[in-house]
Amino acid sequence: MISRRIWLKTALASGSALALPAGFANARSFGKVVSTWDFGVGANNAAWQVLRAGGSALDAVEGGARWAESELCNATVGHCGNPDRDGYLTLDASIMDGDGRCGAVAALEDIAHPISVARQVMEKSPHVLLVGAGAQQFAIAQGFEKTALLTESAKKAWQTWQRESKYQPTINPERASKALPGDKNNHDTLGMLAIDQSGKLAGACTTSGMAWKMRGRVGDSPIIGAGLYVDNEVGAATASGMGEEMIRNATSFLVVELMRQGKSPQEACLAALERIVKKREEASKNLQVCLLALNKHGEVGAYALHQGFVYALCEHDKDARLIDASSVFSS
Ligand code: ASP
Repeated sequence: MISRRIWLKTALASGSALALPAGFANARSFGKVVSTWDFGVGANNAAWQVLRAGGSALDAVEGGARWAESELCNATVGHCGNPDRDGYLTLDASIMDGDGRCGAVAALEDIAHPISVARQVMEKSPHVLLVGAGAQQFAIAQGFEKTALLTESAKKAWQTWQRESKYQPTINPERASKALPGDKNNHDTLGMLAIDQSGKLAGACTTSGMAWKMRGRVGDSPIIGAGLYVDNEVGAATASGMGEEMIRNATSFLVVELMRQGKSPQEACLAALERIVKKREEASKNLQVCLLALNKHGEVGAYALHQGFVYALCEHDKDARLIDASSVFSS
């Protein structure tokens, strides 16, 4: 498996220090990175190292996602993720650049960095999405090591959950006072978008998906257009929350298309959420969808159905800071 030090060195060596394009303000001279949730702070700082060294947005988002996959014990991304209802930890990830190149893996088991496997799918295979045993076989053929990933605490959380065995995702469970130990963080995804010195965009999305999901369930994160979409001509969008809603509505693609039609990132996120509410008004009251968008000018938008969504922002060579997103429903 590629170590972080070697990964960073290679990423920086391949990134070229590019001249600022016309109209790309000095204040954004290293670009910009945004990502979902509190863990976006650490992930953004990792991505920022790549951007400030002149690396590409693609290398930056891969680096940020790798940070989230390896450094955390937050029960929703990478090796600390909670398993499915049968006790298997299955990982979903996707990566995309603004030229339309993309790769993804779904239901990947026992491989520590699904985002890097997704990138290999993009660069070394004729396909976009590999799943399950095939994705693992491809990863091993590319030099990734097979490692048992399920942690003791995730196993315990699963055992606690089995007492009632109810699949009932709640809105922001990590903030709910009645959350069971196993419910803690039973949703959340690292969705990251970046724009580099040359004005090019890229995005990455990585998650262990909804805790206690059915075996074989795939969420929005590895589905291009649902959990992630990037187009250099317009901007990029990513999502977190109840993945089935993003798949039903091709939500990240929709956000980018709404920006193409002239909406700001903030307006586009809101309009995409309003479409979900319009189609499934009752259901929307009890599920969370969180959207984050970045347009090619570096403007950011973030909106969720319900309060509690935060995103991290890195710009102007300052440490990442957390910002509260707006919400459609106020309680
Ligand atoms: N969107 C992810 C999924 O459905 C989970 C999340 O972000 O909360 O798998």
